[in-house]
Amino acid sequence: MTHKLFGPEQVVRPGKPLVIAIDGPSGSGKSSVSKEVALRLKLAYLDTGAMYRALTWYCLEHGIDLTDSAAVEQASEIMPLEISTAAATEYVAVNGTDITEEIRKPRISEAVSSVATTLGARTELIRRQRQLIDQHHRRMVVEGRDITTVVAPGAEVRMLLTASEEARLRRRGLQLGGTQSADQLAEQVTGRDAKDSTVVNFTQAADGVVILDSSDLDFEETVGAALTIVGKVIYGD
Ligand code: C5P
Repeated sequence: MTHKLFGPEQVVRPGKPLVIAIDGPSGSGKSSVSKEVALRLKLAYLDTGAMYRALTWYCLEHGIDLTDSAAVEQASEIMPLEISTAAATEYVAVNGTDITEEIRKPRISEAVSSVATTLGARTELIRRQRQLIDQHHRRMVVEGRDITTVVAPGAEVRMLLTASEEARLRRRGLQLGGTQSADQLAEQVTGRDAKDSTVVNFTQAADGVVILDSSDLDFEETVGAALTIVGKVIYGD
């Protein structure tokens, strides 16, 4: 479907920066919506959560104690990470090993918050994220937890994608194919968000960040609403 503001052949703000920063909790639909926005606007795409997941995989693979912050920080600096920045291609590799699917498994989701709350590791991943944004001439949709506030506070468009707890649990449950018990699912969604909230605030919108509540919207409607926000910010009302 074509959005009224953006035709299929149109290049938005050609030659100029267009960073679209999207934060939100797990199950808000952030990744799928961000990818679709990037595809429609022909922008690069960065899933910063995948970088924290890759670092978690790397630490587990090398037997690094996740409570040893100096070791986790050092791992973040030496990890040879490759991540796709094309919305149409999901690919994450460390040292040539394809871990695209591995990093979505429960053992990673359960451990990732320990890594993400290691401040030294965050500093290094944030440095890499900013470098990737610059390498794409600042034309990119970047999604995560601290993009609007820390990674790219100067982004042209900043939004917080939220959804009720009920909607988030339902979506994650569907995504995981009903293989998890209700308790496991709640731990993965709300438990992980509670741990993550100790270092980054992604439940309240910072000044200038537009809130998009997707609780009562389907996927297509959420993408449409996100594109409308982009249109308003860059073309004015
Ligand atoms: O988005 P996703 O659920 O894949 O993120 C995985 C984890 O990575 C989050 O639970 C959080 O611990 C961490 N994360 C973060 N900052 C970001 C993106 C993700 O701390 N910008």
